[in-house]
Amino acid sequence: MRILISACLLGARCRYDGVSKLQPWISDLAERHILVPVCPEQLGGLPTPRPPAERRGDRVMTRDGGDVTAQYRRGAEEALRLCRLLGCEAALLKERSPSCGSGMVYDGTFTGVLTAGEGVTAELLRAQGIPVYGESRVAELADPI
Ligand code: SF4
Repeated sequence: MRILISACLLGARCRYDGVSKLQPWISDLAERHILVPVCPEQLGGLPTPRPPAERRGDRVMTRDGGDVTAQYRRGAEEALRLCRLLGCEAALLKERSPSCGSGMVYDGTFTGVLTAGEGVTAELLRAQGIPVYGESRVAELADPI
């Protein structure tokens, strides 16, 4: 199975703070599937490191009040384009991110509070029929399909 995956889960230092979040199960997953890494925030034109951002309704705002909605949307469109171009059947995306989060995201107050919702890329992929998994559900992708 070909899986679109948040590049930061592979240890790429593409997070807003430039810190690696390599997951210990990546090697096992890579033996079973073809992984296609993307970082929607970088694909949308944002630098690394960059100010933290959170969803606030339909917008995405940085902590200092910058509106980065356009970059987040552009990154989501690029991730969808690559997903289709390369024939990915599912997406495994970093939880709680304003781009990649699925199920719960930070609530826009920058106080660490989570609320029900999705990141911009996760939302677009799901709307286009791509099954989206967060990393806590990686076991569901353990066996090749
Ligand atoms: Fe990771 Fe997605 Fe954030 Fe990029 S946009 S750093 S892939 S969670």
